[in-house]
Amino acid sequence: MKLTHKLSESKKTLFSIEILPPLKGKSIQSIYDSIDPLMDFKPAFVDVTYHREEYIYKKREGGYLEKVSIRKRPGTVGICAAIMNKYDVEAVPHIICGGFTKEETENALIDLQFLGIDNVLALRGDSIKTEPAFVPEPGGHAFAIDLVKQIGEMNKGKYLDEDMTDAAPTNFCVGVAAYPEKHFEAPNMIFDLKHLKAKVDAGAEYVVTQMFFDNSKYFEFVKLCREHGINVPIIPGLKILTAKKQITTLPKIFQCNIPQPFYEELEKCTDDKQVKEVGIKWCIEQSKELIKANVPCLHFYTMGASETTKAVAKAVF
Ligand code: FAD
Repeated sequence: MKLTHKLSESKKTLFSIEILPPLKGKSIQSIYDSIDPLMDFKPAFVDVTYHREEYIYKKREGGYLEKVSIRKRPGTVGICAAIMNKYDVEAVPHIICGGFTKEETENALIDLQFLGIDNVLALRGDSIKTEPAFVPEPGGHAFAIDLVKQIGEMNKGKYLDEDMTDAAPTNFCVGVAAYPEKHFEAPNMIFDLKHLKAKVDAGAEYVVTQMFFDNSKYFEFVKLCREHGINVPIIPGLKILTAKKQITTLPKIFQCNIPQPFYEELEKCTDDKQVKEVGIKWCIEQSKELIKANVPCLHFYTMGASETTKAVAKAVF
């Protein structure tokens, strides 16, 4: 079922989660263990992130260094299919531009349709760690909008081979990412909004935001989106702080501000148990205010921390 149908059918704020594939070599049981406790809250969907390759240098005999490509968290599509099968819930794979040619993207999308996966989150992806900026694959897409357009063409039955005249149209519902505190590469918010609107005009049917800890940033962002003609559902992304080091790592990785009152509470914590308590409390307050504002869904970046997500869900749903 298309997520947009679920969102429009529901009169109340829905609950959804994002999970990461396990590290290569770990079993899928670790995924089941982390989402089992959250299934009681009937998530509207479960997003599964995509992690591209990284390059590392391995020391070989004779002292020379070999550059090796590794993917630490493969399995996005398989996990989506397994989750749908086990829990009868919509699973949404993240599809990225990075590392894919258009052909490879087309083939991946065909696999998804054959598996009955109708929803995808279309993203550009970040640069690989050893590159200073995002580099598209030769013959691949440079921006998420190009991916949205390719999926839109497939939804019309237009594949890359123009000689295919009777291809079955796919039926994807496409979501895209947005940044209440601006994408770090965008020179300003208006620039970023212009490109977000272009993704929506190209066929994106809903938006999921980057994590934020200050609801006023989300509310202001939604207002700006509406003023700029972006009228699709904008799903807020929430993260529960679970460790003191995240005070500095989350803003660095996700470019999100930690509001001063929250920061002051976190600073007082002497261990991560206390940080978790403060993080849960803050997220409950955020969630309550967002629900009161009638947002379509609360989307939790679980990052494997199901206990804290459960504590918040229990308090607000
Ligand atoms: P885009 O929409 O392409 O935008 C990237 C930047 O380019 C923005 O600054 C935008 O303003 C600008 N821009 C867009 N179009 C143009 C254009 N035509 N010309 C010039 N500038 C343009 N990353 C992963 O690798 N795997 C994941 O699973 C993953 N999941 C995510 C889920 C969510 C909800 C979010 C918010 C992010 C996720 N990311 C993931 C991170 C994401 O890939 C990065 O933030 C990436 O840097 C941007 O992706 P995007 O889809 O927003 O890119």
